[in-house]
Amino acid sequence: MRNVVIVGGGPAGIRAASVLVGAGLKPILVNETRQAGGQGYRAPAKSLALDIKSLMGSEAGKYQRLHSLFASLQEQIDYRPGTLVWGVHDKVLHTSCDGVAGTIPYDALILATGATDRTMPLPGWTLPGVFTLGGAQVILKDQGCLIGSRIVFLGSSPLLFLAALQYHKSGASIAAVVDTTPLSAKRAALRDLAASPRTLARGVMYRAALHMAGIAVIDGATPRGIDGKTHVEGVRITDGRGRERRISCNAVAYGYGLKPETQLAELAGARFQFDPDFRLWLPEMDADGRAGDNLYLAGDGSRIGGADAAEASGALAAHALLADMGLPHPASELEPLRREVERLRRFQRGLAKAFAWPVAQAAALPDETIACRCEAVTVGEIRAALHAPLGPREVNRVKAITRCGMGRCQGRFCGPALQEIVAEACGTPIADAGRLRMQAPVKPIPLHAAAEMEP
Ligand SMILES: Cc1cc2nc3c(=O)[nH]c(=O)nc-3n(C[C@H](O)[C@H](O)[C@H](O)COP(=O)(O)OP(=O)(O)OC[C@H]3O[C@@H](n4cnc5c(N)ncnc54)[C@H](O)[C@@H]3O)c2cc1C
Repeated sequence: MRNVVIVGGGPAGIRAASVLVGAGLKPILVNETRQAGGQGYRAPAKSLALDIKSLMGSEAGKYQRLHSLFASLQEQIDYRPGTLVWGVHDKVLHTSCDGVAGTIPYDALILATGATDRTMPLPGWTLPGVFTLGGAQVILKDQGCLIGSRIVFLGSSPLLFLAALQYHKSGASIAAVVDTTPLSAKRAALRDLAASPRTLARGVMYRAALHMAGIAVIDGATPRGIDGKTHVEGVRITDGRGRERRISCNAVAYGYGLKPETQLAELAGARFQFDPDFRLWLPEMDADGRAGDNLYLAGDGSRIGGADAAEASGALAAHALLADMGLPHPASELEPLRREVERLRRFQRGLAKAFAWPVAQAAALPDETIACRCEAVTVGEIRAALHAPLGPREVNRVKAITRCGMGRCQGRFCGPALQEIVAEACGTPIADAGRLRMQAPVKPIPLHAAAEMEP
């Protein structure tokens, strides 16, 4: 019996599992969180009795469908909840479940590991009370808690508006929603955004709902810093008209959208190329998600595409796996799925232009700003290393010299900003700054879990 393993229990992983089950296989589905559903369709603990209809809004039907699909698969898959895959080596996954180390050998692997927040350093961003946008949303959806009582949503991405609206509906007072991209950028991206009119309409609706609720939405702002002595007290910005403003608050949800979680893909052998639209290094793969020897990628973990693209790409990856194993697969179903994924990813390219990553903000960061939260490395220390005689010009060397990206998060959060700082200081194109190479463990694990690893 061939061991087929899926990592990730979001829409991509669940849909991949259902295709494999339909073909008579019993895949192992490994999922870091206890409950399946992934990030967008995250299921809160049952004891919280949160109102899913109100939280999910127009997506409540899709939420229910995905969770029903997963429930129908439970008996036919080997589900391993609460299990983190922290390393991949020689076709073996290294796992940690409740602190206990384990291994799962595989013959074929589908990685559907989803996305995480994309952040940019900012003076004061390490103060207690500052959360990433996605983190703020997870706390609400997972724990039913608010990050504060008077909150500024700051940064850029559709998640900025969605999360602000969800917080508003949950009773939080929203001091302001501050978008760093101007409305003109969104208008310019309309052609690509029209690739998914339904999602576009949802975005417009979120914004309209915020206006109707009397919440201030500020476009084209430049963040200057987050103030506070021991906790967040306010946010300083220059608004789109060039006016300096300070907005009082006791919490900030801060972020610039999402980036794929590609660490396991790299450890499993995927190669990467730089994507200038997203300004990110993304894994190379074919239209169905083939990324290496018996390695398949699906969902936001390969390209940000949203939940519908994640489901369709999960099905494609599973069909590709079946085809490569010489098992029957319905070739006629593939073309519509490919078109769907292509269309939705085109929409995401539009979003990348409409809610652009703040390149200028990286260049203007004051030296004393902390760039790497885990190792407390400042932007000035990075610049000093780059400007030293024979200083490095590539991020992995900068990491070795400054320890930026060497801490618990392994550069998952500071990595994209580090690339910008290096490119700007060296006057080179961003692609020439390179990308941080991934190493196991991809997330923090108990020391004994690594010690128990078989040699
Ligand atoms: C914080 C956050 C909030 C979001 N909120 C929304 C939202 O409200 N609405 C919306 O439309 N979209 C939202 N998105 C985007 C949304 O995640 C996707 O479009 C969609 O869920 C992607 O599906 P997926 O299956 O590719 O990944 P996900 O749904 O992210 O699922 C990935 C799964 O893989 C698991 N996993 C990851 N790494 C490992 C590992 N090393 N070992 C084991 N398991 C692992 C995770 O626990 C997760 O269950 C959010 C994304 C993030 C990161």
